Amino acid sequence: MLENHVEDILMIIRKLKSTLSKESSKKLDLDKNERVVHRLASFSENCEVCQQELLALKDHFIQLEDKVDGFDMEVIKQHKKMFHAIVSHLQKKHKLVPENMYLTLYMSIGISLGMVFGLTIFDNIALGMPIGMCLGIGIGAGLDADAKKKGMTI
Ligand SMILES: [Zn+2]
Repeated sequence: MLENHVEDILMIIRKLKSTLSKESSKKLDLDKNERVVHRLASFSENCEVCQQELLALKDHFIQLEDKVDGFDMEVIKQHKKMFHAIVSHLQKKHKLVPENMYLTLYMSIGISLGMVFGLTIFDNIALGMPIGMCLGIGIGAGLDADAKKKGMTI
């Protein structure tokens, strides 16, 4: 029965993709929405929260389909909020990571460390920052690729 819900949701997403402008699709992040639905489906057998989220998403997408002629900010805001909550559940409970999470994280760590080392060791903040950033990007990109290989990326 749950499989039907998943199919229904995916069908609406596909329909939205073909009717909405690229800009609106991107605003709703439909590609990612699709991946999230697949993830929920794969965990729903053993996770009640994922089951409930799938049911809520079905209602949500049915409403979204009704409003397809004109989204207002409120609709998009609600949509993002909903997916934000689901993604944080997938991260906390099912140990998944969002795309490029490590890249963003290590880049900012690299920049801060680069600034500190730039100031203390090189006595030149402008030198330390780009070095730290590059190292951070290198490490983060490697960890992202690893997570993707393990199938842990949302
Ligand atoms: Zn779950």
